[in-house]
Amino acid sequence: MKKLCIILLGPPGAGKGTQAKKIAKTYGIPHIESGRIFREIAKGDSELSKTVKKCIEQGGLVPDEIVNRIIKERLLSEECRKGCILDGYPRTMSQVAALDSIIGEIGGKILVISLKINKNKIIERNINRLICPVCGAIYNLKTNPPRDDLKCDDCGSQLERRVDDEKIEVLRRRIETYEQYTEPIIKHYEERGVVKMVDASQSPEKIFEEIKKVIDQATL
Ligand SMILES: [Zn+2]
Repeated sequence: MKKLCIILLGPPGAGKGTQAKKIAKTYGIPHIESGRIFREIAKGDSELSKTVKKCIEQGGLVPDEIVNRIIKERLLSEECRKGCILDGYPRTMSQVAALDSIIGEIGGKILVISLKINKNKIIERNINRLICPVCGAIYNLKTNPPRDDLKCDDCGSQLERRVDDEKIEVLRRRIETYEQYTEPIIKHYEERGVVKMVDASQSPEKIFEEIKKVIDQATL
């Protein structure tokens, strides 16, 4: 079987993180989240760490050349021998080109899973969203409430709510940014017939059922 590299796309607030974790657990493949990797690297004191730290602090994106190098290293590692889920990568067409060439080199296969959901639905969902500031677990007061009132099931930390208008406005802008940068990426992979759309307005369980079907078909 070819190494399956899943590119998980979804606007902020569509439940991408939750789904990525479920996929990783079910299929025994690592969840490679570029944002988290950069934050980890930024903690060190190598030259690379300093560069990445500066990018994060200035609120900019880490240069493609560095991102590509970091992702390539991960993709070639033993951890990814069966495949992986990419989250937050690729973000630019130059990253797409780099990824395609790495996948070509290792004889892998790309599957793009695109979570589709209406913008207003995301906004509504986020008004009910809770996040653990310590371990990153995500809850929703309506669809996925924590067992203990406002405490993280995994680590017991106090969960944070994100309800103010300013943050909702930021979210709206982040969704628009997402739509802009993913458009050419989806088009590129659609031309190769490797994009599967999944309706993300359903419950997390239903979404995952659909994702599983898509992955199982791709690995046949
Ligand atoms: Zn937690």
